[in-house]
Amino acid sequence: MSSAASVDRVHVRAPGKINVFLGVGGRHDDGYHALATVFQAVSLYEDVIARAAGDFSVTVRGADGIGGDADAVPLDDRNLAMRAAKLLAAAADYHGGVALEIRKSVPVAGGMGGGSADAAAALVACDALWGTGFSPARLHELAARLGADVPFALHGGTAVGTGRGDQLNPALARGRFDWVLVTSDEGLSTPVVYEQLDLLREEEGALADDPPLSLDVPIPVLQALRSGDAVQLAASLHNDLQAAAVHRRPDLEETIRRGIRAGALHGIVSGSGPTVALLCGDPESAQAVQTSLQQAGREALHVHGPVPGARILV
Ligand code: ATP
Repeated sequence: MSSAASVDRVHVRAPGKINVFLGVGGRHDDGYHALATVFQAVSLYEDVIARAAGDFSVTVRGADGIGGDADAVPLDDRNLAMRAAKLLAAAADYHGGVALEIRKSVPVAGGMGGGSADAAAALVACDALWGTGFSPARLHELAARLGADVPFALHGGTAVGTGRGDQLNPALARGRFDWVLVTSDEGLSTPVVYEQLDLLREEEGALADDPPLSLDVPIPVLQALRSGDAVQLAASLHNDLQAAAVHRRPDLEETIRRGIRAGALHGIVSGSGPTVALLCGDPESAQAVQTSLQQAGREALHVHGPVPGARILV
């Protein structure tokens, strides 16, 4: 492929996610846990702007009050967006580079897949910038090589993830769900939370293959999504990582209780945390929950889902 770029700037937006259900099974020999999860993409976005360049570089800017620390995001080959761009270049035999600008709104190390959204956005942006023309299936395959949550950030909407979370099947979801996200100034490391889960299970005497290596998403979760019923969904919200996240951050439980007292139907830790996702019955009650938490000094954002995956902005 030639290194002549077909356009010189592409802007892509990709969403953060909430796991409305997260079942964690046993640990495979490669260190990964078996998962059965339901992702929902929500209206909190990462913007990635790709500009034609001879070399590879990345800059990161955080929106105010997003929680986490945008300054802590690596700017070298550890950056997931940079890795995505280089993986695509290698797969397409493209010999130029790209200057990536990341504008973060998803909390860093917040359990909402912000880095995965950046990687998905970088794949789509570089594909367009370089005129690579890869099919969605090919981009999905590259995404899965970058991380378990990256294919979902490409895809968006609501989807069931199995395997490591990367084997996706769209889930029918009607209507809109209103969430209030409570962010934290300090992130939680995903591997540390999984290690904590293993420790807690060991203490409980769980064997290596118990919990099992394959899992299912409970039917009531899928029914609630299909009928667009927030009350039913609230009753089936579940996260196996929550106990481990709360072990590290006991205050998260109080945040959930406070959200419920303020009118949320229910709440969970999002993914590996520490972001708490509070499900509300409608936009008005979400507004009230957000205001109440903000008055208590918390950083709270009202978002909705499902929303589409990584998209080029025109
Ligand atoms: P996960 O997708 O594992 O649930 P998370 O949503 O909790 O992760 P992220 O914000 O995606 O957290 O980032 C986790 C870590 O990955 C960060 O602490 C950072 O060191 C590293 N990282 C690499 N690339 C990026 C990126 N583009 N944005 C944010 N973090 C990145």
